[in-house]
Amino acid sequence: MGKPTGFLEFERVEETCEAPETRRGHYREFVKTLTETEAQTQGARCMDCGVPFCHNGCPLHNVIPDWNDLVFKGEWEKALAVLHSTNNFPDFTGRVCPAPCEAACTLGINAAPVGIKSIEHAIVDKGWEKGWIKPQPAPVRTGKKVAIVGSGPAGLAAAQQLARAGHAVTVFEKNSRIGGLLGFGIPDFKLEAAVIDRRVKQMEAEGVCFKTQTLIGDKALPNGVADEASTVISAAELNKTFDAVVLAAGSEVPRDLPVPGRESKGIYAALEFLIPQNREVQQGVKNPVQVRGKHVLVIGGGDTGADCVGTSYRHGAASVTQFELMPQPPVAEDKALTWPYWPLKLRTSSSHREGDTRREFSVMTKAFIDDGKGCVKAVKAVRVEWQDGKMTEVAGSEFELPCDAVFLAMGFLHPVPALLDAFGVDKDAHGNARATTEGVDAYKTSVPRVFAAGDTRRGQSLIVWAIREGRQCARAVDAFLMGKTLLPR
Ligand SMILES: Cc1cc2nc3c(=O)[nH]c(=O)nc-3n(C[C@H](O)[C@H](O)[C@H](O)COP(=O)(O)OP(=O)(O)OC[C@H]3O[C@@H](n4cnc5c(N)ncnc54)[C@H](O)[C@@H]3O)c2cc1C
Ligand code: SF4
Repeated sequence: MGKPTGFLEFERVEETCEAPETRRGHYREFVKTLTETEAQTQGARCMDCGVPFCHNGCPLHNVIPDWNDLVFKGEWEKALAVLHSTNNFPDFTGRVCPAPCEAACTLGINAAPVGIKSIEHAIVDKGWEKGWIKPQPAPVRTGKKVAIVGSGPAGLAAAQQLARAGHAVTVFEKNSRIGGLLGFGIPDFKLEAAVIDRRVKQMEAEGVCFKTQTLIGDKALPNGVADEASTVISAAELNKTFDAVVLAAGSEVPRDLPVPGRESKGIYAALEFLIPQNREVQQGVKNPVQVRGKHVLVIGGGDTGADCVGTSYRHGAASVTQFELMPQPPVAEDKALTWPYWPLKLRTSSSHREGDTRREFSVMTKAFIDDGKGCVKAVKAVRVEWQDGKMTEVAGSEFELPCDAVFLAMGFLHPVPALLDAFGVDKDAHGNARATTEGVDAYKTSVPRVFAAGDTRRGQSLIVWAIREGRQCARAVDAFLMGKTLLPR
């Protein structure tokens, strides 16, 4: 702890953002990292708690007080090494993690928590700027071959750990770019493609082989699941060629809204809008879904919905409304009740602030109305009340709202069943790949030599959890292949 009185002397300083009026005009990142001095001062706010709750709040168990202290002392390169000791990709989490560590920070009980995420962001960006982040190829090769299905954060973390342990790793991705939802899904204005691509280069130099547009298993993909594959490799072929397989294929099946009028034109699963938008920004292929001058309705109040809101503003939508079925949470959390856990509170994303977003809570969609030519022109909805977890419609509260583009952002159900079926792995009650995370069978599916990690195993979640599972799964695979492992858990 560099400065014992830092938490008393210094206020929390947030990262600054480009103004909404100007950032709406482009798809580049708009958050500016803290300056060196700001980050050092923020590091000084850390109390180096005897029991650092931030560790536990972070699924990666990042060694937060140590790098806070090193930043305060100006020892940035050492801070970067500590950061990388638990997290392969702090450049991803430093940008788009919701920061459960900050919700758990002890200082947050009676003051603003330490700005852990902004310090992480500053450390890793400085690491790239200074050229400290380099490939770390394994000194010795094991001769073992591992296939990773899916190139999201879980697959990438597993691939990097396994390559550094000396295995020959191939990552198979059905889409045309590496990164999973980080590459195609999360908009570039939150996480630019270049941030992923420099990690891909690093991993290639560490020996990882990437095969894009290559689908593993069976082409039977449900509606709303992106597929740019030109090659299909069967599960049997993969099993024959590799010593171990990791299924890290995300949780791609979107939750649908089967109400009357759903078949109208102009109603899309969120990723049918967001993925082509990433493709337009990154590859120059025009997004077929355009909402300039349209009244947009986003159904679903999470991250995916917020990304549809921000993208709609960038298109020049006439208005954006967002429906959420659950009641509006309190603006501020009750710390005494929730700390150190993730609190229920109203979350307003940067995208909501980019326009006059109308947010409606406790609203259930009943039907879509078309314009007589098959295109959506309005939604019929009703207000609901929640009591003891039960929802009832409020009598007489039905209303109609004009809309000519609708994005369904109500979450994802489970991984594509055809992939799990192709390998014959057991599913859990939610349709995810069944595998435990503890003990000798950690991350093993019901099929020998086939492992599962990330959203494919745990269901729709967060990047930080995907990285954790990728790292832990790599350890399990290494132990399986070599009989022992030095990879960290
Ligand atoms: C729009 C959106 C915004 C989000 N925003 C945030 C955020 O701000 N912060 C946050 O922490 N989390 C966010 N999330 C959640 C986060 O992106 C996911 O939890 C995380 O990416 C899961 O990582 P994963 O590696 O398990 O899977 P994914 O990232 O989904 O990657 C899986 C990859 O596997 C590929 N694949 C699937 N099947 C096959 C196959 N048969 N053959 C070959 N390849 C295959 C897919 O094409 C995909 O590229 C967001 C999610 C969405 C949809
Ligand atoms: S809980 Fe907060 S104050 Fe305590 S060590 Fe972690 S970051 Fe520092």
